[in-house]
Amino acid sequence: MKYQSFVGLEIHIHLRSRTKAFCSCPAHFGDEPNTNVCPVCMGYPGVLPALNEEALAMAYRTAHALGCTLERESFFERKSYFYPDMPKNYQISQFARPVGRGGAFEFELGGGAKTLRLRECHFEEDAGKMIHAGEKSLLDFNRAGCPLLEIVTEPELSSGTEAEAMLRSLRRLVRHLGVCDGNMEEGSLRCDANVSVNTEGAGLGTKVEVKNMNSFRFVREAIEFEIERQTKALDEGERIWQETRLWNENHGATATMRRKESSHDYRFFPEPDLPAFAASDEYLAGIASAAIASPLARKRALLALGIPNERADSIVEERGLAELFDAALAAGAEAAATATFMESDIRARVNRFGLSQVIERLDGPGLAAIVQGLAAGEIGAGVARAALDAAVVEGKDPRKHLEEASRSRIADYPAIEAIARSAVAAERDSADAFLAGNAKALSRVMGAAMRASKGMADPRALEAAIRKEIGS
Ligand code: ADP
Ligand code: ZN
Ligand code: MG
Repeated sequence: MKYQSFVGLEIHIHLRSRTKAFCSCPAHFGDEPNTNVCPVCMGYPGVLPALNEEALAMAYRTAHALGCTLERESFFERKSYFYPDMPKNYQISQFARPVGRGGAFEFELGGGAKTLRLRECHFEEDAGKMIHAGEKSLLDFNRAGCPLLEIVTEPELSSGTEAEAMLRSLRRLVRHLGVCDGNMEEGSLRCDANVSVNTEGAGLGTKVEVKNMNSFRFVREAIEFEIERQTKALDEGERIWQETRLWNENHGATATMRRKESSHDYRFFPEPDLPAFAASDEYLAGIASAAIASPLARKRALLALGIPNERADSIVEERGLAELFDAALAAGAEAAATATFMESDIRARVNRFGLSQVIERLDGPGLAAIVQGLAAGEIGAGVARAALDAAVVEGKDPRKHLEEASRSRIADYPAIEAIARSAVAAERDSADAFLAGNAKALSRVMGAAMRASKGMADPRALEAAIRKEIGS
């Protein structure tokens, strides 16, 4: 029998607002347990929630970026259920009027792309966190009441690989939007996968929801496992139950958790303590005007400039780097040379000093000056790196550094000849290899000479002197 598989995702992203969704507690990860709590997020009787408009605006911006139809009057509803990590016994969520409906998300898949349609995006609060420690279970309510956006897709993915690719692209988008840090291990990006298998052409099968995957790989593996498990069950004529299963990363398998509730079990009803949020024309225009270029559009632009795929990825991974790249090009730098410099030298500074330090201290014109100097052969790699460090480490204008370097540059030909002569003597084997036709060997002699001049020799004059000294 031939089967077809369907996967739909329910993705939760933690909105990076300073405070929680309905109270003024910090929405901050990693603090001492139960320190960011108050009567509102602990669900004490008689308290009143107040909407965090900063968080809701992030929800609207994300829904807009996903092409959803934005709701002009979104309101909040109570979703009632009991769980120890949720002291109110209900979650403030949205049901009838989510911030956005419809929409679609185009993501990279293999060498191409796929568009996944979305059902809706709704704003809601998070629950606390239960930590199971041996015989005991501990509760941390710091996360209770933190703002989330839930994105619900159509069941139009067909494999774990597709789901993983979609999530990776979505992570990039929400990071570019600045609405979520996308960290799956810390739970700021979470996903439940709905999986069904059916005879080919027969439409959707019975849905199984899989939870508890805290990495992209686990999402892929859990879905692949589920598709295989259901396929086998169908083959053997077994019934598939609609249920919720948990991924167990140690066993590499899913296991039954509970038979799935349906939405009427939650008794959604309008939250009486919160007014509806009316999104005026001005408000929606503001959301639209805050739109950014999508990471996929940016990546395509880089590919169109002839930048290789991986290099384009490493630039587009961070919006700050993509903007720095654009700014350098706007200042006259050439695309390929900028991309090369970014992937090697700038990437290393980002890893060492952090992205924010690099993009705060290095601007497009500064980067362009370095890249142009390199491309024109006016400076060598050593001076380029020193100019970069002057900016990133010392907060100095790299152009100023380049000017100073050019003033103290050794352009005096006898001095350069002397440096070339001792470098050729020291690297005799490489010089001979170069003479014998190994073109690359010249760079070893060049490297030694540049080091001897502490990066201050004019690279073109130095190379000429070395070639002359070798006698090529
Ligand atoms: P529920 O009401 O149980 O939450 P929904 O219809 O709201 O179910 O769908 C929740 C998620 O499950 C969506 O992402 C949707 O795409 C997906 N889904 C629904 N039915 C199926 C199915 N038969 N197979 C796979 N995924 C499904
Ligand atoms: Zn609180
Ligand atoms: Mg649902």
